[in-house]
Amino acid sequence: MAGLLFGTGGTPHSSKTNTTIDGIGRIAELGLGCMEVEFVQGVKMGEAGARLVAEVAARKGVKLSAHAPYFINLNAHEPEKIRASQDRIIQTARIALLCGAESIVFHTAFYLGDTPEEAYSNVRESLEEVIRQLKRENNRVWVRPEVMGKPSQFGTLEEVLDLCTELEGVAPCIDFTHRHARTGAFNSYPQFTSILQRVRERLGRAALDNMHIHVSGIAYGQKGEINHLNLQESDFQYAELLQALKNYDARGIVICESPNLEEDALLLQETYNTQARAG
Ligand SMILES: [Zn+2]
Repeated sequence: MAGLLFGTGGTPHSSKTNTTIDGIGRIAELGLGCMEVEFVQGVKMGEAGARLVAEVAARKGVKLSAHAPYFINLNAHEPEKIRASQDRIIQTARIALLCGAESIVFHTAFYLGDTPEEAYSNVRESLEEVIRQLKRENNRVWVRPEVMGKPSQFGTLEEVLDLCTELEGVAPCIDFTHRHARTGAFNSYPQFTSILQRVRERLGRAALDNMHIHVSGIAYGQKGEINHLNLQESDFQYAELLQALKNYDARGIVICESPNLEEDALLLQETYNTQARAG
């Protein structure tokens, strides 16, 4: 079996409707392996709906993850905003569990003028409370802070890895495109392998067996990420990334967030499989 599964962030464009159920069906028809359910505008799926999603995903052999709402800032300066952010992560984790998803992904915070150290300690404290609550509920979904694409956003690779080493049940969502956009660098085989090496150093080999990756093309400038692009319209060296993932025997899920969604997910999957056949 291939080490990596490929799929889309949200329902593929070519699905009959944009429901999660039809999305899962379309992923299976296309021969892709996974889908990230997007709760980015809020968790609106109910419990019965989530159970049905789990059933269909299991039947079709499609692995699911979930993306939490965008309106999260664990470094907010108002306590009620922190609580609302924590609730959104917990809500996502509860519905994700019922969907049969193994991971949830979220955008952790903004610095809001704080030093990275101040932001880190606020984020760590707020996230620890979330983890404690999920543990009380016996919810073992992986909670994955995402590596972010703008300097104003909390979520450098090291910040994400620090949270993973300090909190149980927290694992990284490595967005290689964001890493590239934030710095303009990190777009070549040696730089991709340096990221994988760093993950292994900090979190051990087990982390490479349980990867959650986001990829797309991207436009970026002085302030980092501008918008997502299709891979072939961008400078992103996805073939080199896939070669690095293959050589490090990375396993897990690769979610494509290009505007064309499934077209680039299929491009990534085909490129990866061709490289694997070439040995
Ligand atoms: Zn995201």
